[in-house]
Amino acid sequence: MLSTMQDGQLSLANLLQHGSRVHATSQVTTWTDQGPRRESYADLGRNAARLANALRSLGVTGDQRVGTFMWNNAEHLAAYFAIPAMGAVLHTLNIRLFPEQLTFVANHAEDHVVIVDGSLVPLLAKQLPEMKTVRHVIVANGDPATLQAPEGVEVHSYDALLAAQPDTFDWPEIDERSAAAMCYTSGTTGDPKGVVYSHRSIWLHSMQVCMTDSMQLSPADNALVIVPMFHAMSWGLPYAAFMVGASLVMPDRFLQPGPLAQILASEKPTFAGAVPTIWQGLLQQLEAQPQDISHLREVVVGGSACPPALMHTFEERYGVPILHAWGMTETSPLGSVARPPAGATGEEAWKYRYTQGRFPASVRARLIDDDGNEQPWDNESVGELEVAGPWIAGAYHGGADPDKFHDGWLRTGDVGKISPDGYLTLTDRAKDVIKSGGEWISSVDLENTVMSHPAVAEAAVVGVPDEKWDERPLVAVVVREGHSVTAEELREFLADKVAKWQLPEHWTFIDEVPKTSVGKFDKKRLRAFHAQGKLD
Ligand code: ADP
Repeated sequence: MLSTMQDGQLSLANLLQHGSRVHATSQVTTWTDQGPRRESYADLGRNAARLANALRSLGVTGDQRVGTFMWNNAEHLAAYFAIPAMGAVLHTLNIRLFPEQLTFVANHAEDHVVIVDGSLVPLLAKQLPEMKTVRHVIVANGDPATLQAPEGVEVHSYDALLAAQPDTFDWPEIDERSAAAMCYTSGTTGDPKGVVYSHRSIWLHSMQVCMTDSMQLSPADNALVIVPMFHAMSWGLPYAAFMVGASLVMPDRFLQPGPLAQILASEKPTFAGAVPTIWQGLLQQLEAQPQDISHLREVVVGGSACPPALMHTFEERYGVPILHAWGMTETSPLGSVARPPAGATGEEAWKYRYTQGRFPASVRARLIDDDGNEQPWDNESVGELEVAGPWIAGAYHGGADPDKFHDGWLRTGDVGKISPDGYLTLTDRAKDVIKSGGEWISSVDLENTVMSHPAVAEAAVVGVPDEKWDERPLVAVVVREGHSVTAEELREFLADKVAKWQLPEHWTFIDEVPKTSVGKFDKKRLRAFHAQGKLD
C-alpha cells in the first residue's frame, strides 16, 4: 500500500529558502582585521541568489563542480548554499593540502570554477596552471589583480560580479538523491578520496546535528564554527544552523589562540566546534591571560580523541562542558556523540563522556574482528568499526579504493568496542595500534594518560620497530610552557596507571607535535622522523 503523504524533496534549495525567510534576522558574523562584520540570514539568501546568477553567467550548468578555496566566512557560507541550490556541486578544497594533492583533487573533481579568498590567492596561484579543468577564478575579500592567471582562465572580482546580479534566483526543484557537495579525505595514505554528499544526506544529517541527544542547536545559539568549512563540511554546523536559525560566528583566518580569545570576548558564542589541538592552544592562552568563557554552554570536540584531562580543565576551571563526538569525512561527519544516558551522574557520567559516544538512529554499527567475525556489544570485544546509514558514504567518487566498502558497510579503519547500550570506545586507528609481543597497545590510551600530567601540553605516541617485541611505543612530549619534566618522572607517573609491559622506554621531547592538514597529530611524519633519526 502506498502512503497518502506528499513527497517533498529534502533539498538545499528548500533549506536556503527556509532559513533566509523564517530565520531572516539570525546572523552570520565574520571576523576581520577590523573586528566583526555582520550579515543577516536574509542578506545571505540574497547574496546566494546573486552568486548563483553570477555562476550561471559564467556558464555553470548541470552538476558542474565549483570549488571553494576559502576560510570560514560569510562568502563561503553563501557558496555553501548557492552552488548546491542551483543544482551544481560544491567542492570544498582543503587549503592545507600538499600542493600535488591540491592539484589532484581539483582535477579529479573536474572543478570548473574556483572561488578563492584574497589572502589565499598566492597559495592557489602556484597550483592553478596544473588545474586542467578550471576556467574561472573568483576572488573574494581581495584584489583580483593580484592573481596572474594562466592562459584560458578568467579572473573575476567577487564583489563586482555579484553587484551586477539580481538578488533573486529561480531555484530549481532538485532530486534529493543528486550530488550537492564533495569533500576529499585528507589522504594520510595514497591519493585523497572524494566523498560526494547528496541533498538528502545533508538534510537528514542537519536534523540530527540539532537534536537534543546531539549538539542541540537552537535559535538561542550563537555558534562559533572553528572547524574549517573544508574539513568534513564543518561538521555540518553551517547547514544545521540555517535549519533552526542559530546564528553563526565565522573566524575567517583568525585561528590562532590570541585572536580566538578576542572573538570569544567580543561575540560571546554559546557553542563552538573544533579539534582538540585548537582547544589545547586556547587553554594555554587562557592560562597566560585569563578570561571568562562561561558564555559557552557547550563545545563539541572531535576529529581525534579528546583527552579527558582537557575535558576536566575546561569544565572545572572555565565552567564549559566538552561534548566528545566521533566522525569521518565519509560519515558526513556525525557518527556518534557522547552524551551520557538519562540518570547517569558524577563519575558514571564522566565515563560515558570519555567514550566516542552513542550512535543515533540513522547510523548502524558493527565490529568485525581480524577473521571477519562480528563481535558482540559487550564493551570488551574489540574489532574494526563498520558503519552504514543514509548519511554514510557507500563509495568514493570514481570508485576509488573499493576495499573500504564491505557488503554495503563502510570500513572505518577505527578499532574499538561497543557497550550494550550503544556507546563506542575507540582504542586506535587500525594503522596506529602498537603491536608489542603479540599484544596490542592503544596509542590513544597512552597519550591520554601522559597528557593528564600537569607539565605536559601535548603527547603523541607511535610504535617504533623493536627486534624483540616487534614494536614498542615511543612517546613524543611537548612540555607546557614554564614547566619541566623528565622521562623518568613521566614513567613513574605512568607506573600505577598502565600495565607494566606497556610502560614506554622510548621518550623524546619536542617543541611541537607535527599536525595534519586538519590539525590532527601526524603520526606518519612522527614515524618518518624517527626512521630518519630525527627523533629518538
Ligand atoms: P582524516 O582521515 O584525513 O583524518 P577525517 O577527518 O575524515 O580525515 O578523519 C576521520 C578519523 O578521525 C576517524 O576515522 C578517526 O580515526 C578519527 N576520529 C574522529 N573523531 C574521533 C574521536 N572523537 N576519537 C578518536 N578518533 C576520532
